[in-house]
Amino acid sequence: MFKYLKLFIIALAGIIAAFFITVIFSNSNNNTTVLSLDKDLYTKLTQEKFSISIPDEKTTQSIITVKYRPLVWGIVEADFNDFKTKVKETLNDTRGWKRAGLQFIEVENGADVDIILSDPASLGATPGCSSELSCTTWSNQVIINDLRWREGTEASRSANMSTRDYQHMVINHEMGHWLGHHQHETSCPNGGPAPIMLQQSTGMRGCDSFNAWPLDWELWTNKK
Ligand SMILES: [Zn+2]
Repeated sequence: MFKYLKLFIIALAGIIAAFFITVIFSNSNNNTTVLSLDKDLYTKLTQEKFSISIPDEKTTQSIITVKYRPLVWGIVEADFNDFKTKVKETLNDTRGWKRAGLQFIEVENGADVDIILSDPASLGATPGCSSELSCTTWSNQVIINDLRWREGTEASRSANMSTRDYQHMVINHEMGHWLGHHQHETSCPNGGPAPIMLQQSTGMRGCDSFNAWPLDWELWTNKK
């Protein structure tokens, strides 16, 4: 009798051990799958940047479509049609976010994000924004300051950045926020051109040169 009980206990222990080993291995596999496929979740879990590696052959291949709608707020001095043309040029430039596998399409309805040319007062009245600079909100609004759009900032002018390059820079910087770059880069430890997500409008923080385009290591997004 005791012999059978002993055998039964050994068999039961074996089954339980096999069950736990299966659970442990299947969990580790699941984790690997989640982390490699769900970049958004990965970013949230780690609170770190998720870099998409872009093979050379994909640099001009668009894989994520962003629909944007140009709008105007208040009374602006810049020409709105010119603004729309320049926004389109910047977003579709091969030096820009396109390199992260994005393509941008202008739409009138059903936009993912609005790109708004705003007078400084309307911008200043928007929560979280100031009338001094441009701004991106959690309501999918990239808001460009009409005054800065036409004149740049003191920092951009003293760095001899052309108005057109400033316009490229401000569109790329604010679009970068919308694409998931919520934090600013704050320094240039090795010199070189400024990252697009550094606030070049207010100073260079050790960077050698003004730069209107995302650097290679900034080419990531949490959009799908
Ligand atoms: Zn910013």
